[in-house]
Amino acid sequence: MPRDPAGKSAGIYCCGPTVHDFAHIGNFRTFVFADLVRRCLEFKGLQVRHVMNITDVEDKIIQRVRENKTTLRDYTAKYEAAFFEDFDTLNCLRPHETPRATGHIPDIIELIEKLVARGVAYRAPDGSVYFSIEKYQACGGHYGRLQKLNFEEMRPGDRVSSDEYAKDAAADFALWKARVPEDGDIFWPSPWGEGRPGWHIECSAMSMKSLGPSFDLHLGGEDLIFPHHEDEIAQSEGAGVQAPGESFVKYWLHGAHLLVEGKKMSKSLGNYFTLRDLLARGFTGREVRYLLLTAHYRESFNFTLDGLQGARTALGRIDECLGKLAEIGVGVEASPTEPAIVREFADAMDDDFNVAAAWGAVFEWVRETNIRLVANKIAADEAKSLLAGWSRINSVLGLPGKKDTHGEIDPSLQKLLDERGAARKAKDFKRSDAIRDELKAKGWVIEDTPKGARLKRI
Ligand SMILES: [Zn+2]
Repeated sequence: MPRDPAGKSAGIYCCGPTVHDFAHIGNFRTFVFADLVRRCLEFKGLQVRHVMNITDVEDKIIQRVRENKTTLRDYTAKYEAAFFEDFDTLNCLRPHETPRATGHIPDIIELIEKLVARGVAYRAPDGSVYFSIEKYQACGGHYGRLQKLNFEEMRPGDRVSSDEYAKDAAADFALWKARVPEDGDIFWPSPWGEGRPGWHIECSAMSMKSLGPSFDLHLGGEDLIFPHHEDEIAQSEGAGVQAPGESFVKYWLHGAHLLVEGKKMSKSLGNYFTLRDLLARGFTGREVRYLLLTAHYRESFNFTLDGLQGARTALGRIDECLGKLAEIGVGVEASPTEPAIVREFADAMDDDFNVAAAWGAVFEWVRETNIRLVANKIAADEAKSLLAGWSRINSVLGLPGKKDTHGEIDPSLQKLLDERGAARKAKDFKRSDAIRDELKAKGWVIEDTPKGARLKRI
């Protein structure tokens, strides 16, 4: 149930990328999941406001800016642009707002001022400002809402200044970090002296600025539960800006993490993939999206290259079925009955985004439809109505059209196909075979048809 009493709108905030490098496939699991949630709510007729921040100032970024002897904006602009390019390749709908932390320094300072005024934050001798967990708890706040934390080791006033810290280190955390020489020219003036915001306060300030002090859904990877999201709750509710009885966030959804080839992703193990790495191996954004959408968000998922091959086969089955329906349903009006598969799919998604049941229903539908197609039991208007049903389902799944299966293909592939045609004409079979192999390596086979050669996904 959304917070909106009329039940018509919902606000979603998803912690966005830290633009210090290319995002990896584990990061994209979260963003594809957030996109699925948004599409599901829109499917149900809700007016969704989707906000995702861009963290463009924090410890790691500052370190990289220093190492690369560049400016903050030049450094982050490159990775921000790459992130959105990948985001589009995965067919994620762009959020309605993508605020950058550096664009919201006054809002961040204003929120910290509120926390200081309420006595739950204090200025340390070096000019940094910390959130006091002890004071927050003393005035009724509950730190550790999302996971059980051990406070026994904690001594009042213990402070942690870095943005990321260990699970057992519940301690006062930095809201504002006083300028140090290593920051170079990355600093802003504030009532407490020059400095920069901590990572956690960025999300509290930007989410509440865009969606108000209370909103429906907050998403992120499970690695953000502590400390990032616990800190976000403490900062947002510690400011006392919510209406009585309202919390900062109504529902938290955390995506489990991704293993790759059975192990935690790491550059040294060779199982660290950015989306770009997978595209370079000939896979498409559509295949990667499909594979990421086959796992339930709360379960850790083993992402493999074999799995991507399987994704290609599975998508091929759907495409083939849809292609046949399209051939039958040309030039007629769809029958008005909505196919049963739409409701089955929607019911599965209503059950805490049960994608396993949803895909099960989809593939059962494909199997039955194929049997009926072979038996010539689908009339033109029904074919059209089945296709319309698929469009409804796909408004949630967000799989881009199969335009690269037949028909419109990438110009570089078309060029190779044309070159092969020319080589065959010139009886240069060595060359034409070499091109065939090259296309095969990219995931395509050549079909020689009466209308000429065309490419088909393997
Ligand atoms: Zn965040």
